[in-house]
Amino acid sequence: MARHKEPSFRESVDIMFNRAVALMDLSPGLEEKIRVCNATYTVRFGVRLRGGIQTFTGYRSVHSEHMEPVKGGIRYATSVNQDEVEALAALMTYKCALVEAPFGGSKGGLCIDPREYEEHELEQITRRFAYELAKRDLIHPSQNVPAPDMGTGEREMAWIADQYMRMNTTDINGRACVTGKPINQGGIQGRTEATGRGVQYALREFFRDKTDIDKAGMSGKLDGKRVIVQGLGNVGYHAAKFLSEEDGALITGIIERDGALHDESGINVEAVREWMNKHGGIAGYPDARHHEDGSDVLEAECDILIPAAMEGVINLSNAKRIKAKLIIEAANGPITAGADEVLQKKGVVIIPDMYANAGGVTVSYFEWVKNLSHIRFGRMQRRSEEARAQLIIDELERLSVEKGMGALSERFKSEYLRGAGELELVRSGLDDTMRTAYQSMRDVWHGRSDVADLRTAAYLVAIGRVAGSYRAKGL
Ligand code: NAD
Repeated sequence: MARHKEPSFRESVDIMFNRAVALMDLSPGLEEKIRVCNATYTVRFGVRLRGGIQTFTGYRSVHSEHMEPVKGGIRYATSVNQDEVEALAALMTYKCALVEAPFGGSKGGLCIDPREYEEHELEQITRRFAYELAKRDLIHPSQNVPAPDMGTGEREMAWIADQYMRMNTTDINGRACVTGKPINQGGIQGRTEATGRGVQYALREFFRDKTDIDKAGMSGKLDGKRVIVQGLGNVGYHAAKFLSEEDGALITGIIERDGALHDESGINVEAVREWMNKHGGIAGYPDARHHEDGSDVLEAECDILIPAAMEGVINLSNAKRIKAKLIIEAANGPITAGADEVLQKKGVVIIPDMYANAGGVTVSYFEWVKNLSHIRFGRMQRRSEEARAQLIIDELERLSVEKGMGALSERFKSEYLRGAGELELVRSGLDDTMRTAYQSMRDVWHGRSDVADLRTAAYLVAIGRVAGSYRAKGL
């Protein structure tokens, strides 16, 4: 009800930005330069479909070019508009700075409900959109590199890459024009699940520090924690799957477009996903209680809430009723600036979007580097690593026979002998990135008496780095 009083998504990002810069010593000119969105390109193009011409509206926004290329996903949704794309582009600037991915911030969107089109129609529309952006260098390996977001995935990224390469047949780095591609089109192992995996690594890092756990009014580890997830798409599904299968968390609630599922004893994420793939939604899923109104479950008791659907879902109309102790923003902007204040007053700890969902852009960075180096990670060193490990094993076995000690276990030998392939390296790089970025936020959160929350800490770190970059350029 009170929602109409709330600022727009972009204004919400600006409010959070302003809250942080008030604690910094930036010149007003530099502050303004960082805040504003550099440019937004709007395109309207026609595609001949179903016997007529349909016109589509798309955007590509470039928030900051302190580093190039700029990076950010392309979203397909009917709600896409300039304000949203600019807010998301700004978040990309801060996100990349926070996780030290060497990119400026950008974002794109197309006003479309992809579920209303056949695959061949979506291909035609995507190729035309890509053409419009590529001819203005808004898709380009060294200028602007899109990735998947809501409503898009590796299929769309493959079409975009192919379209760019058709237009730039001699560009040897053409595949680096977009990330999130399928493996056989220059993608990288571990990209599809990277954002959900990043959410898991972020929570693991949070639960390594007793002070942080105490701040959220919790105790113990992730094992047994009750988790509610909103949006079982790419990000929400992978986060929920990994947390329940690998960390012992209980997924007690799943909220989707058509209602919500609730079961205090835990819901089988894989089974729900299969049901959704077959039936197009969660309604009718037999092994958990179905609520027509998703807000019943959004506001239910739990330890951790993972909004992983879209922006603005926790707002002034419901923030007071949210019962989670810890919220990890897997989606971009799920909590409005007003709701953020309400939740903070209630003592809820919020792990902010710019950090929580940075796993996607982190692995996108690895994919881009892979495309530019034209070689799969691990290809040169894997067997050499294994050969060196074999030398150690042989020597240990010789010594243990000599000293009459027992043999090495087969499990140790097989694990130690396995050289790291691309997937292991990607996971290691992602884990390292999520831990390092969390620590940089935590240092500010714990180290400054005027910083009360992780979001402000994240903005301080990110803005400080962007400012440093502008200053080094002489701006
Ligand atoms: P997706 O389209 O794969 O999934 C979104 C899911 O949310 C769908 O299952 C959809 O049915 C559901 N949903 C939509 N509206 C809903 C509502 N009102 N209530 C409940 N469920 C709803 O999208 P995604 O790629 O998983 O992205 C989700 C969020 O994560 C977005 O905010 C996006 O910007 C952010 N994000 C995605 C990535 C990525 O790599 N895909 C990276 C960073 C951030």
